[in-house]
Amino acid sequence: MKRVYSFGNGVAEGAGLGKETLGGKGAGLAEMTALGIPVPPGFTIETSVCADVSRGASLDGIRPEVESALVKLEHDADKHFGDPENPLLVSVRSGARSSMPGMMDTILNLGLTSRTVKGLAARSGDRFAFDCRRRFLEMYGDVVLRVPRHEFEKAMKEVKKARGVSSDADLSAADLAEIVRRDEQIVRQRTGHDFPDDPREQLWGAIGAVFRSWENERAKTYRKLHHIPDDWGTAVSVQAMVFGNRGETSATGVAFTRDPASGERKFYGEFLPNAQGEDVVAGLRTPRPLNADGSGLSLEETMPRAYADLQLVRERLEKRFRDMQDLEFTIEEDKLYLLQTRNGKRTGFAAVRIATDMVDEGLIDAEEAVARVEPEQLVQLLAPIFDGKEKDAAVKQGRLLGKGLPAGPGAACGRIALTAERAVAMAGKGEPVVLVREETSPEDIAGMHAAAGILTTRGGATSHAAVVARGMGRTCIVGAGEITVDHAHKEIRSKSLKAAEGDWISIDGTTGEVLIGKLSTRPSEVLQVTIEGTIKPEDSAVHRAFTRILEWADARRRLGVRANADTPNDARIARLFGAEGIGLCRTEHMFFEARRIVAVREMILAETLAERRAALAKILPMQREDFLGIFREMGDRPVTIRLLDPPLHEFLPHDDDTMQKTATELGVSIEKIRERTHALKETNPMLGHRGCRLGITNPEIYEMQVRAIFEAAAAAMREGLHPNPEIMIPLVGARGEFERLRVLVEDSAKKVIAEAGLEIPYKVGTMIEVPRAALRANRIALNCDFFSFGTNDLTQMTYGYSRDDVGTFLPVYIAEGILPEDPFSSLDQYGVGELVAIGTRRGREVKPKLKVGICGEHGGDPRSIEFFNHVGLDYVSCSPFRVPVARLAAARASLAEKNVGTSSTA
Ligand code: ADP
Ligand code: MG
Ligand code: MG
Repeated sequence: MKRVYSFGNGVAEGAGLGKETLGGKGAGLAEMTALGIPVPPGFTIETSVCADVSRGASLDGIRPEVESALVKLEHDADKHFGDPENPLLVSVRSGARSSMPGMMDTILNLGLTSRTVKGLAARSGDRFAFDCRRRFLEMYGDVVLRVPRHEFEKAMKEVKKARGVSSDADLSAADLAEIVRRDEQIVRQRTGHDFPDDPREQLWGAIGAVFRSWENERAKTYRKLHHIPDDWGTAVSVQAMVFGNRGETSATGVAFTRDPASGERKFYGEFLPNAQGEDVVAGLRTPRPLNADGSGLSLEETMPRAYADLQLVRERLEKRFRDMQDLEFTIEEDKLYLLQTRNGKRTGFAAVRIATDMVDEGLIDAEEAVARVEPEQLVQLLAPIFDGKEKDAAVKQGRLLGKGLPAGPGAACGRIALTAERAVAMAGKGEPVVLVREETSPEDIAGMHAAAGILTTRGGATSHAAVVARGMGRTCIVGAGEITVDHAHKEIRSKSLKAAEGDWISIDGTTGEVLIGKLSTRPSEVLQVTIEGTIKPEDSAVHRAFTRILEWADARRRLGVRANADTPNDARIARLFGAEGIGLCRTEHMFFEARRIVAVREMILAETLAERRAALAKILPMQREDFLGIFREMGDRPVTIRLLDPPLHEFLPHDDDTMQKTATELGVSIEKIRERTHALKETNPMLGHRGCRLGITNPEIYEMQVRAIFEAAAAAMREGLHPNPEIMIPLVGARGEFERLRVLVEDSAKKVIAEAGLEIPYKVGTMIEVPRAALRANRIALNCDFFSFGTNDLTQMTYGYSRDDVGTFLPVYIAEGILPEDPFSSLDQYGVGELVAIGTRRGREVKPKLKVGICGEHGGDPRSIEFFNHVGLDYVSCSPFRVPVARLAAARASLAEKNVGTSSTA
């Protein structure tokens, strides 16, 4: 069985095998080689070996294959491993199926021994040879021998200080030789052994360590956050080194084939002359731009030949991969080599723009465009931006702390956290946080996730912070060089300003501005077009790309998308975002409004039915107005209205002041209010006297609500509309509850319909939100027009705790692995999801055409939507602002079912 695949000189054994086998990096190297793009030769050990290593297997099984691949590599590179005259040096690189930037390890310049370093020096100069050797010692020492990296860094700092130089580039050959000597010494002290001086021993040490880096903590965290399965494993690629650190005609760099922030079709990237590997992303020196910008420093201006070659590569790769690529390249003495290509991470803005542009360019079709945009990415396009005027004023007041490169668009305000741990701790208390670092490293991942925004003072647009923030959709600014982070004083400073950890700052990820204090925000461009109407559609390219993606999505989805809306204004937003109806209109919100609550309390305190009816009669016209407003917005779209749900005590005052005020308003004694509040108290508020049970004991409440709905519908019809009300009974657990209330609804509706002399179509259905209802669905469905799963309550009742409890112990549960994930943020298929599946199936057993929807939080969660599509629901209903996300997620669920590839950005 073949597990090692060579590539080199235009031939790649692994071409076409793909990321599953070769990992993203290995697959990219194989494809580029096969395309005839210059790639240093090498071989890739497939991902399945990683799983074996994780299980404790030795590497002996692949030894013969690796040895023969090495012979081929030596031949292709025309250099020999361990040859003191002309040594072959290699990199040993990790690369998983889905890109995990910087999470695992890579070792460069392997093969340098006390002998070969001399050979290298004789051929290419001492300075170069010692620079390679010290980089190798540091990486190998860290990754394989587990010597803390900062010890090597300290050695380097000391030598720099002693020589009075600040940049690595100013170190002489002798300085570097001294660093090498010290590094070797550190290894000896730390491990009790000399640094391994046999290239083969080095190689096997590195291969094992890189496989094991799959299991390091930061890689595990990253996988958890990005839902990458633990058993995928990493591949290992061993590749001949090329040297970007061979003087001023050499360089190393990274490039995107399009702008990863805006999506604009322009070449985008950075490079550093006389540098190697990670130097560009590490932010040690300020990288230079690729495209000529008049500075005379760009690649285009300084190395025009290599730049032209890179342009050709860019075009060929986009044609081949039909997606925006993120490249790593090295130029060795004016000759260009490609070291990596992958589908580039991008912002939501770039995702919609690139997908629609590529359709126009004929690279992909509309269906693929839909699969290219992650539903969550649309949230970025709706996220607020700073108010321009207020920001200008803040700048005038001198609150501009500095500027950096805009790396993740959007506006973020938060309290400053200077470490990832602080960010996590502060965010845990519900505070918005901006994480401020010199640069981020993979260890910071949890802090970056917890933060609303990320600011770094070093590094370019391709630095770790920028790449990770884009992937997470975080607002981010990098390389704000005027700002310094002072850990000793726990503050950040620029020339004349400073702010302490815990203070508020505002960062604009679209312009790169960092401001002291809290700025207010205003709606995004898409919102200004869609909802506010303050920008004309034809003036917004972002809005155009956004609507095109959603139109393509609509043509491909089976699931309907509705919104949860309680007011005419919410209904309007929902409709403008493309909701096809209202899946949940909660009527109790209408009861809480200041003017109405008095009448509601009067109703609750009433002693007789007549008194209660009199109070309800005061509420009736107000409810009717609400419903009419909603019908006006929704036209003939279905509107699901849930009759009163909460227990009555929720409407009564709880503090003495309000009790006194209410007593005066209603002309009753405060004792009476106390007594009633006490009498209505529930021991189990979730399951007590509420919902349909309240409807059964106090039919006059539902009668009033039904009357209000149908009078509103009649009024709407007289205005020429065709309202489509659907009455929903909450909290049903048994068929009898539903049947009783269905009769009540129908009787009340018929009365109003007869009075109005109109035909008003309507439906009566129920919310399935207690586990019993899901199990008894085949009884409840008999006389029921529709089901709507209330997954919020269903989650609480299934897990036995509410969202409020979650704050205290759920994170612990998840960290300890007691629960796989937050059941409130994503549907757990084997808890609530299973009940949804059972309820749907049983309901349709007796009524095959039963309409089934979902109106809990999960209706706007892309992964849950995929599940709802799978179990055959008719629609999902979510908050108005998530309607676009749900439309796209529903389309992608349909496409996934058809087995069209999902995201290529993964
Ligand atoms: P990561 O996955 O963290 O990006 P890589 O395997 O891509 O790690 O390697 C880290 C850095 O080293 C990259 O900048 C890469 O371009 C560079 N590099 C890797 N292999 C070679 C090589 N054979 N020659 C020159 N540079 C290399
Ligand atoms: Mg890389
Ligand atoms: Mg409920």
